[in-house]
Amino acid sequence: MGFVSLVGRPNVGKSSLVNAMIKNKVSIVSDKPQTTRTRIRGILTRKDAQIVFVDTPGLHKAVTALGETVNATALDSTTDVDVNCLVIDATQQFGSGDQWVADRLDMARTIVVVNKIDRASPAQVLNQLQATASLHALAYFPVSASTGEGVEELIADLVQRIPEGIAMYPAEMVSETPGEIWIAELVREQLLAVTHDELPYSIATRVTEFDERHVRCEIIVERESQKGMVIGKGGAVLSAVRTKLKGALPKGMKLELIVVVDKNWQHRRDRVERLGY
Ligand code: GDP
Repeated sequence: MGFVSLVGRPNVGKSSLVNAMIKNKVSIVSDKPQTTRTRIRGILTRKDAQIVFVDTPGLHKAVTALGETVNATALDSTTDVDVNCLVIDATQQFGSGDQWVADRLDMARTIVVVNKIDRASPAQVLNQLQATASLHALAYFPVSASTGEGVEELIADLVQRIPEGIAMYPAEMVSETPGEIWIAELVREQLLAVTHDELPYSIATRVTEFDERHVRCEIIVERESQKGMVIGKGGAVLSAVRTKLKGALPKGMKLELIVVVDKNWQHRRDRVERLGY
């Protein structure tokens, strides 16, 4: 029974990798960097082991109160786990951003995971392994979260490295995330898929009412002018979100979506904290 964190630059595929290992969707995936804000855990239960994954937000240079909180959360989660997986992108040169993250990890309990090998040539993968050899990590794993290649091998290795001990969570549990947060994240994920430019970073979501038949989710934007983009022409965006979420919600549960403006919430620490980021 052990704890494993995933750390690395934004967009290297940490969320995708957690999902691939758990074979279940526990963390939102987006092609826009820095969209994972909360620390969502996935739980993998095997006959012989249980691994709790900590999906950290991408470390990045903080420019807002939100950014600072996100960084603190990410670093916190690397110190109290059994193994860190430093995830890097096979299709991009190992750069100063990766090095910055690596410098903050204890290499005596870090594994390097080279992700996205489905999109990289063997030479690119080899390059990444060579570039990271001097880190003297515990092990090196080329994987693809998309195709699943190498994922089983990575899990087998992690199982060997975590301490023995009884499972802390029931076998059927895949996530610690409460229903409300999960639904708010699903709504945010759908909005991220359809919005552009700076808008994704201005959107927050929060469930304010929740029972078996009804859920009310607030979509918070920073400016009046952003409201229309989130609602869409004749409510088109909101209704698309509602349709997408139908399958994820219990049958018959009504989803109410409300758009509110909270001026510059991203730059206000009290707001960021209230949202639980
Ligand atoms: P995170 O910010 O590190 O958590 O990255 P995400 O998991 O959100 O992934 C970022 C982007 O990379 C998304 O568009 C994913 O679909 C894509 N991605 C993640 N893993 C892979 C992979 O193994 N292969 C390919 N081709 N794309 C991937």
